[in-house]
Amino acid sequence: MSPSAVLHRQLHQAPTLALSGEGSYITLEDGRRILDATGGAAVSCLGHSNAEVRQAMIDQINQLSYCHTAYFSTKPFEELASLLIESTGEKMSKVYIVSSGSEAMEAAMKLSRQFYLEKANPEPQRTKFIARKQSYHGITIGSLSMGGHKFRRELFEPILLPNVSHVSPCNPYRNRKDGESNEEYIARLADELDAEFQRLGPETVCAFVAEPVVGAAMGCVPSVPGYFKAMKAICEKYGALFILDEVMSGMGRCGTLHAWEQEDVVPDMQTIGKGLGGGYAPIAGLLIGDKVIKTLEESTGSFRHGHTYQGHPVSCAAALAVQRVIQEENLVENVRAMGVLFEEELRKRLSDHPHVGDIRGKGLFWGIELVRDKTTKEPFDPNLQLAFKIQDKGLEAKYSISLYCGQGTADGIAGDHILLAPPYNTTREEIVRIVEVLQAVLEDVFGELK
Ligand code: PLP
Repeated sequence: MSPSAVLHRQLHQAPTLALSGEGSYITLEDGRRILDATGGAAVSCLGHSNAEVRQAMIDQINQLSYCHTAYFSTKPFEELASLLIESTGEKMSKVYIVSSGSEAMEAAMKLSRQFYLEKANPEPQRTKFIARKQSYHGITIGSLSMGGHKFRRELFEPILLPNVSHVSPCNPYRNRKDGESNEEYIARLADELDAEFQRLGPETVCAFVAEPVVGAAMGCVPSVPGYFKAMKAICEKYGALFILDEVMSGMGRCGTLHAWEQEDVVPDMQTIGKGLGGGYAPIAGLLIGDKVIKTLEESTGSFRHGHTYQGHPVSCAAALAVQRVIQEENLVENVRAMGVLFEEELRKRLSDHPHVGDIRGKGLFWGIELVRDKTTKEPFDPNLQLAFKIQDKGLEAKYSISLYCGQGTADGIAGDHILLAPPYNTTREEIVRIVEVLQAVLEDVFGELK
């Protein structure tokens, strides 16, 4: 074949063509049948080629493939929004649908700013955001500025937004002190956030933004119970918005439809993405609570923002079908049940591995952090590119498993992790197989390092 015309991530190495998908498997041009243990980047929540979703998309294309949301709404758009609001127990009141998680984060940032400009709520001096180190909120300039993912930021630092600062994430494996209780740890992180508000001038901060379970930046890190409640209390103390980025951890991935349901908090706004449309179409969203919507209603009555493809009818039809399948087949319950098995299998097979430092997660969202030395938690040299060696090894024909691997810990770029996110309708056999194959891949990679 002639060289690829696509600007792939690696210019000198075009990936193998993927020809088809069925359930938890993707078939490649060279015949490999890959067990998709991560649904891409925690996207494919129903697996591949679900018949109901495909049919819903075809029906919508046959009916109406596109119209501009400045002039028209569509049935799937309205029905999806209603379903989402209902899923929050009416704790959110409006839905803004876009095509990617980054766009959802941009919308959250702009709506926060506009919230403080409205006549009903004038605080135009609020221009700053506080997010967390080693987080990931997207790849566009605004959303990348919000994230603390050092590797993804580093080339672009000079053009990132200057009005975003970052506090420590909640990562008990990496930054809880020896002997520190959960309460003491939370109090320390709360003091850090409070001090950051004070440093910036609390009256200048729009919002604090965090992922309920950190995904791409640290390899799946849930917070300790009570952490988010303490962070929200500080936002309320200073009149700033509390925004949760559930693009990766939301829509059922962690065992409840919304990850915040397990944290005893309700955000002022939340972004959603991957599990919303399960990869059948590009779709993400921003769910907005009453506080922000009421202010908007009482003032300008409009959000000054918009994309050509927002609320795209085919994407909405796909997401609506995905969400209906999740409801009808009780898949969030399956996430919880299979999650218990997944944790058991991971701990049984990998806890004693000399380089497995931490196994953590929730539902069907699990991360494994690898360390050179288990006692000191010293990471491997990042130049070794261990995470990517594991990813590549998994794709070899004898293993044929797709793993989402990355680098970065709470402290920076060093540190290797593996993220696992099988579909919500996965089976016991698949869970056992994923862990067995992963164990074999690790043995192989570490054997080669010796
Ligand atoms: N927010 C979180 C938590 C994510 O994990 C991601 C993507 O991985 C994004 C935002 C950005 O989403 P997208 O890649 O769809 O722009």
